[in-house]
Amino acid sequence: MVKSSSLEPLLPHNQTSHSRSSKTSIAVLISLFGLLTLLSPSPLSILTSAFSHPSSSSELDSVALRGSCGQAKPILPPSDQHNISSVWEYKDEIVKWHQGAIKIPTEVFDEMGEPGEDKRWDIFADFHKYLEKAYPLVHKHLQRTVVDTTALVYEWVGTDESLKPLFLTAHQDVVPVLPDTVYQWEQPPFGAVYDGTYIWGRGSNDDKSGLTAVMASIELLLSTSDFKPRRTIILGFGSDEEAGGQRGAPAIRDWLLEKYGADSFSLIVDEGSGMQTVWGQTFGLPAVAEKGKLNLNLTVSTLGGHSSVPPPHTNIGLTARLITALEDNPNPIELEKKSPIWGFLQCAAGYAADIPESLKESTVKSIKGDKKAFKELPETFVKAGLGESRTGPGQGNGVQSLLSTTQAVDIINGGVKVNALPEVVTTIVNYRIDVSSSVQALQDRIFSILQSKAEELSLSISGFGHSWSPPSGTFVRGSISLTPAFEEGLDPAPISPTDLGSAAWRLLAGTSRGVYASRPEVSKDGKIVDLSDEEGLVMAPFMSTGNTDTRRYWDFTNNIYRWRYFPDEDGQGAHTINERISADALVEFVRFYQALILVVDASNEV
Ligand SMILES: [Zn+2]
Repeated sequence: MVKSSSLEPLLPHNQTSHSRSSKTSIAVLISLFGLLTLLSPSPLSILTSAFSHPSSSSELDSVALRGSCGQAKPILPPSDQHNISSVWEYKDEIVKWHQGAIKIPTEVFDEMGEPGEDKRWDIFADFHKYLEKAYPLVHKHLQRTVVDTTALVYEWVGTDESLKPLFLTAHQDVVPVLPDTVYQWEQPPFGAVYDGTYIWGRGSNDDKSGLTAVMASIELLLSTSDFKPRRTIILGFGSDEEAGGQRGAPAIRDWLLEKYGADSFSLIVDEGSGMQTVWGQTFGLPAVAEKGKLNLNLTVSTLGGHSSVPPPHTNIGLTARLITALEDNPNPIELEKKSPIWGFLQCAAGYAADIPESLKESTVKSIKGDKKAFKELPETFVKAGLGESRTGPGQGNGVQSLLSTTQAVDIINGGVKVNALPEVVTTIVNYRIDVSSSVQALQDRIFSILQSKAEELSLSISGFGHSWSPPSGTFVRGSISLTPAFEEGLDPAPISPTDLGSAAWRLLAGTSRGVYASRPEVSKDGKIVDLSDEEGLVMAPFMSTGNTDTRRYWDFTNNIYRWRYFPDEDGQGAHTINERISADALVEFVRFYQALILVVDASNEV
């Protein structure tokens, strides 16, 4: 795994639009020069183009800023090869395929036994049978392998072994429907009702939409074209992503590693973030990084005793003080140049007409090399917010969580009887580690905060490679032990490239922009329409605050994109009530996968 530094900063490339009207002042150009040297490996070429076009200083900024968020040229497969818009003729089939998948309740739970022993896994066999029946051509032309009883791998073997395979993934499993919430669903959670606009049900969005889109795109390619891949296409469908992907994705990874080896794939596309209209501009926001994770198990052990003769602080009181120390010292918000959020801000400053002025100004200054502005940028971004807040009541600040390691004290256990002092109290704290940090750095920080408190409370403390005890001869109340809960911590994901020098990004972003610029609302014949910057889809890097199955796939390539090609508002209710997806968005999602398969197959660049 090689960490990419390609986001530092996003470099302008030749597809960038510089076309604006004439007239400009030398003074502005001189000040721009600093910015351009920062942005471009060959600043003079950009300067020449700046000389010949822009007019006002704000336009200059916009033009230069757009250079810092280079957009891939929209691409579609050649229509004489296959017209991907033909998928619209199969909308009814696509809806039915999706309904069939939703009707099979592939729920997974946090604590599950072995397949075969725990009957709750049996539903996956039904799901596999359904896929066989629904997609006969996929099962005729692709080789299917079931790994770890419930996970699926399909291989569509290409004719050219020298080309690295394309790996498309999704997960079969869904979050359980809480029985207490069923009455709040407008449609039965596993009824798969299609109301003419939306297809309803658990999994309709997360993530059977991805699975249906991939399978339908291939089934339709096979039935409506004579396409035969040069490049092997591999599909991997995990079966317990919603329970942390402990079995499915690792089994798929091991099987594929054995057969194809490390660093063997061209591109991985998995579920992820979608399109969002932010500050007046529609962005495609693939997650090109994921935060890391650590569950801290904080255990405090003290001597017990009778509640009638208690010490001033029981174990629970001591634990409360430790928790307070953690909450009083939240991880700072910060931004590093490698963060996808920095890349996103540059794109927003360049393209989003309604970006708050303060945020735009700070971003522009930061790009120009103003260190103070860059240091203050996280704070400015948190203040400005990210358009409409999508977080619910009781939740924290979404922007802040993109800029820091978050901390949530989620589980506490201690005390068994009202007349017995608690001897052991266990607290589990969930951390999502920012791309600027690591498991080790976080563990060191946690230890240092708790050590200060331990000294104050006369507790010894050990864990994460450190230990401290009160000086000998002093009274010791008890001990604190720090360990990872459930599993070892996970570092933040390597950051996938999003500069136009990366062929993988050009293909992914270009295909997304091509499909967007040929959608039925704007294109009569399914060909790319020349959209203005404002009307087009601006592809920008983003980050996921959660994890997907891709955490198991880092060994295969650095080109991992977690990307659902549809507007976030067209797929709702993931992990909660009234989950649904717009049928039209699903058809476009199928069209996107057909385009991607054909475009990547035609390219020799990745
Ligand atoms: Zn998911």
